[in-house]
Amino acid sequence: MQFSDAHCFLCGTTITPDQRTPVFAEWLQTKYNLQHKELLLLDKSVSTFSQLTIPCCDSCNINHVIPLEQEIAQAAEKGMTGFKDLSEQKLFQWIGKMFYGTLVMELIKEADPLIMPEYAVSENPKMQGKFQSFFMVLQSLRIPMVFSDFMPCSLFFLEIDPTEDELPFEYQDELTTMAFSIKLGSVAIVCTLLDNGIIKRALGKFYKITEGQKLHPVQLAEFKARVFYAAYIFNVVPDYFIRPGKPEDEQLILDTLIDDVTAEVFNPWEMTAYAHMLEEMLKPWSIREKDILQNPAQPLSFIVDEQNNFKPLQTFSKV
Ligand SMILES: [Zn+2]
Repeated sequence: MQFSDAHCFLCGTTITPDQRTPVFAEWLQTKYNLQHKELLLLDKSVSTFSQLTIPCCDSCNINHVIPLEQEIAQAAEKGMTGFKDLSEQKLFQWIGKMFYGTLVMELIKEADPLIMPEYAVSENPKMQGKFQSFFMVLQSLRIPMVFSDFMPCSLFFLEIDPTEDELPFEYQDELTTMAFSIKLGSVAIVCTLLDNGIIKRALGKFYKITEGQKLHPVQLAEFKARVFYAAYIFNVVPDYFIRPGKPEDEQLILDTLIDDVTAEVFNPWEMTAYAHMLEEMLKPWSIREKDILQNPAQPLSFIVDEQNNFKPLQTFSKV
């Protein structure tokens, strides 16, 4: 795992400065007109989607990254069915590549920032451990690898109602909590990396309520708030081990272990902290924390009513 412009992000081999691959693939940039769209990085510098590239050797690019992107592009053509037909491992690799790509970019910039960040991600030992574990499972993009009985992430698929949906493309990630969301047309994928599917199980009931429904963008924002908040209070880092094998084995088998003895898997869910996260996500609708917490025991929800039934919502007038 090396964060420099002189090494491939995936295999670490030494490369020349022109060997790079886009973090957001060209098909995504073309399809959603992202080339000149701006992105704000952690050090407050501004980049565009087309400028966001990571060091990548020709071999990794040609043999692994490009074929993966082609497969995802084809799936995306079919919308939700296309994405659901993909293996979760492929989606993990795809999201993982974009997440890791933004991370690498941020860390290269952290070495030479415009404004020194208050807490440098690269200097935090817990984050270093997390990124190292993540780097290991990301290698499945390059090395034939089977995850024994787990997926190193949680994936949520949500269908968005087009009536008031103004954003054909949307993307958000949180480097420290490893929460990620991407919206392509009417399909939103929300993902928490490196949780071994625990967050999906924890939010399973809530996720089921949205199944088969078309969500209003404000409902998607709430769903994201729940997932991102769950990632925020998720408190353990899985360890991954390569199962000892024979030299003739064609693939590696990865086992995992989560230490839930010395640490709680989740820190307590605190309503005000959640409300704060929800307020952040609801910014486009100008909904404030005091509105969210009018009933502190049951914070504002656009997805469920008091009986936890789905609330259909097609139009929503801004405050
Ligand atoms: Zn490489």
